[in-house]
Amino acid sequence: MAGANKPFMPQLIYFEPRALEYPLGKELFEKFSKLEVEIRETTSHNQIRDLPGENDFQKYRTAKSTLVVGIRKTLKFDSSKPSAEYAIPLATGCMGHCHYCYLQTTLGSKPYLRTYVNTDEIFAQAEKYMQERAPEITRFEASCTSDIVGIDHLTHSLKKAIEFFGATELGRLRFTTKYHHVDHLLDANHQGRTRFRFSVNSHYVIKNFELGTSPLEERINAAIKVAEAGYPLGFIVAPLYLHKDWEEGYRELFDILEAKIPKHLTNDLTFELIQHRFTKPAKRVIEKNYPKSKLEMNEEERKYKWGRYGIGKYVYQDDQATKLRETVENYIQTMFPNAKIEYFT
Ligand code: SF4
Repeated sequence: MAGANKPFMPQLIYFEPRALEYPLGKELFEKFSKLEVEIRETTSHNQIRDLPGENDFQKYRTAKSTLVVGIRKTLKFDSSKPSAEYAIPLATGCMGHCHYCYLQTTLGSKPYLRTYVNTDEIFAQAEKYMQERAPEITRFEASCTSDIVGIDHLTHSLKKAIEFFGATELGRLRFTTKYHHVDHLLDANHQGRTRFRFSVNSHYVIKNFELGTSPLEERINAAIKVAEAGYPLGFIVAPLYLHKDWEEGYRELFDILEAKIPKHLTNDLTFELIQHRFTKPAKRVIEKNYPKSKLEMNEEERKYKWGRYGIGKYVYQDDQATKLRETVENYIQTMFPNAKIEYFT
């Protein structure tokens, strides 16, 4: 599968009947009814049982091009992210085929995409969280369970969220993406309260592990567009991965970023750095979904870090992680002296 130059278009769509009671649900139904795409009905977005495909491998691939339009019933937001106080659930699932993606494990047998049409209820819940924390700022992360930008050209619910937070005093929105289809977001009334981050990586990582996502060049062009539109900009380099000649690979990435991004857009720039990690259950799922992947997941070579629920993760050994961190931080500090490195984890 090559990179995604074209915006995502689902091959199969399900609707929960109650979704049609919401304006966005109706709008999406009308929009998709005009296209040549099969529309089915489902009682719940949690139970799609009749996905086409003869085996798990095929069903997984079908799921990645299936969109379910439903209602988010659980309005409690997850709150365990390094980059925000809460995860705001606008969508679940992703059309991308990144081999290392943790959604493969967290979404288990439900890798299809889901979009939620009860956005007003979701925003009302966000409002409650903001009030609880006032006068502190509350940050909401919109890309914990999906690549929200990748489907927003269809739904515009992210655009609504950007404008919702733009109108609040104490709310901030952030999300990260590997897609470049951002044009409809450029005129959103964001008021500088949304940080738009792009996930970038070395050529090796993008080529071998980030299938079905936008090429690096397109991501950078989109980053320039959103920064020109006044959004605070960030880059997330994840996963930082020790491949052959990785120092050169990451150097080349930062050289490209430095050459392309106009200087006047680098004053309020953030970087987030996440080293590659995996869990034992994730490794099993990845090997099943992407049996030919070159992704190295050798427990013996890694350091084991105890985790929540007894599922520990494998990260790089301390000396490797330190070298990785120092090398990449050095590139950033040299090429983007005004940028802020938010964390390395
Ligand atoms: S783009 Fe992000 S969410 Fe989508 S498959 Fe890749 S890592 Fe996962």
